[in-house]
Amino acid sequence: MFVAHLPAGYLLSRFIARGRPAQSGSILATGIICSVLPDFDLAYFYLIDGRQTPHHDYWTHTPLFWLVVAAVLALTLTMSGRRNQLILVGVGLANVLLHLLMDSIAADIRWLYPFSDLRVNLVHVPALYKPWYLNFLFHWTFVAEVLIVLLATVAATLDWRRWRRRTVAVPATQ
Ligand SMILES: [Zn+2]
Repeated sequence: MFVAHLPAGYLLSRFIARGRPAQSGSILATGIICSVLPDFDLAYFYLIDGRQTPHHDYWTHTPLFWLVVAAVLALTLTMSGRRNQLILVGVGLANVLLHLLMDSIAADIRWLYPFSDLRVNLVHVPALYKPWYLNFLFHWTFVAEVLIVLLATVAATLDWRRWRRRTVAVPATQ
């Protein structure tokens, strides 16, 4: 997916943040960053690897890698008495896995790597146009991306209005 990772991450993190007002800011920030974190490997893909290996084949696009990272972070936080921050590990992991799930729609993700090389790719996008990204922009799956973007825009607008009402109301009551 191209444009839906971050908006989908916002929607998921917003849902997790409900009922946790004290941590909602850090939950949203962590979730939004982690929703696109696997694609930071594009820097390696373009700058170092010289586009030799598809970036979906890097370990940054395998669930086991992120499960290990999350387990190490959770253990570190628990042993250092910062259990209240475990929710951030949870929201980060949830967003990374959502990213991989969304990538599995039109690209192939090795969910069981290194135990199996099985590639999960729900929809095959035919190579009809050049440059390559037009194949994805003109494919029906892009409609789903646009819908996610619209949904997140509506949610963000509602959140912003609610936040603004609160910040305006606070000085008036003091
Ligand atoms: Zn990706």
